[in-house]
Amino acid sequence: MSQPKVAIVGAGLTGLSIARQLSGQNIDITLFDKSRGVSGRMATRRVALQRQTLRFDHGIPGLTSDQAAAVAALAEPTDPPLDNLLSNVNHTPPDMAAAKQPLRTVAEGVNQIGKWLAGGLAVQLQSTVTSADQQAEGASWQLSLAENAPYADAFDLLVLTTPPHQAANIVSTNRSPLVAELTALRPLGCWTAMCVTSRQLKGPTLIQCSGEVVERIICEHKKGRDCGNLGVYTVQAHRSWSQQQIDIEPEQVGADMLRDLTTEGYDLGHIVHQQMHRWLYAGVQEPLGRPCLVDTSRKLICAGDWCLGNDIDSALSSAAAAVAEIRRMLD
Ligand SMILES: Cc1cc2nc3c(=O)[nH]c(=O)nc-3n(C[C@H](O)[C@H](O)[C@H](O)COP(=O)(O)OP(=O)(O)OC[C@H]3O[C@@H](n4cnc5c(N)ncnc54)[C@H](O)[C@@H]3O)c2cc1C
Repeated sequence: MSQPKVAIVGAGLTGLSIARQLSGQNIDITLFDKSRGVSGRMATRRVALQRQTLRFDHGIPGLTSDQAAAVAALAEPTDPPLDNLLSNVNHTPPDMAAAKQPLRTVAEGVNQIGKWLAGGLAVQLQSTVTSADQQAEGASWQLSLAENAPYADAFDLLVLTTPPHQAANIVSTNRSPLVAELTALRPLGCWTAMCVTSRQLKGPTLIQCSGEVVERIICEHKKGRDCGNLGVYTVQAHRSWSQQQIDIEPEQVGADMLRDLTTEGYDLGHIVHQQMHRWLYAGVQEPLGRPCLVDTSRKLICAGDWCLGNDIDSALSSAAAAVAEIRRMLD
């Protein structure tokens, strides 16, 4: 093969780290993402309020030191160090690392990590891949985009790093056995409330709650951001509770979450602004249990955190396995 063309659908951590590891190796890689920016669930929402721009990391709140080191290891010698973006905060969320580690956050927003990874890569944003088709088994892949169908170039290899159900939809007309495996994985949602209040809570940046509704409060105003006197919070509900409420109106869910906080003794003060985000897919109920899915005869690979877990470590491990499979297929 001269210069093989590889399409990677999804520019979250998995897709970006696959592209990074393959760049400069005579492979023509194009990433596609449906969003306006890269980074996926390492997500930051900006809200303009009282002449300030407030930031909410409404997916993952930051990285542990080990996770940050693993992402930083994807750098090229010419890249600015990832460390320039990161600062340490004084609290280790128990669900993020067994070992005591500081949480590393980004003043400009956790999505800057994705932007850092995307430096130098060819990324097509606002490009929702609706389907991928092959004329015959093993023939080149033709992508259709919701915004601009079909995409002009064909690809020798297709790598899907979207959540499993989106991946199944994209290749649904293909007879690949991977479609059934992708469809079998059940999503797990997460309700998130983004609140601006009159009061800044004292204490750690990330507060682990003990109630049945809210899992944690992330104090965004403690991440080196200028928030004036405002308290800026991302409040995340437990995933099991969220999944049960997934079809309930956001206003009702937000009220239930704030009531739970009050019952648990957290007083965020007067609410100045509130918006809800429903992660329909924050993770999977049961991960696949293998590092990636491979259909060699169709030149199709599916990867993502959902292969091994619901976290950054799983996304990186899946990406590394996918890279090894891609190299093997293109050899
Ligand atoms: C609320 C929440 C809290 C979390 N907390 C933690 C935590 O404390 N610790 C931890 O380690 N991890 C946490 N995570 C998980 C972590 O964010 C993920 O493991 C990691 O970001 C997964 O990266 P990924 O690339 O596999 O998937 P994603 O980041 O989801 O990337 C998939 C990409 O595919 C794109 N896409 C989807 N469909 C299409 C399509 N049809 N066409 C084109 N593009 C498409 C999406 O826009 C997205 O950018 C949390 C996640 C959430 C949501």
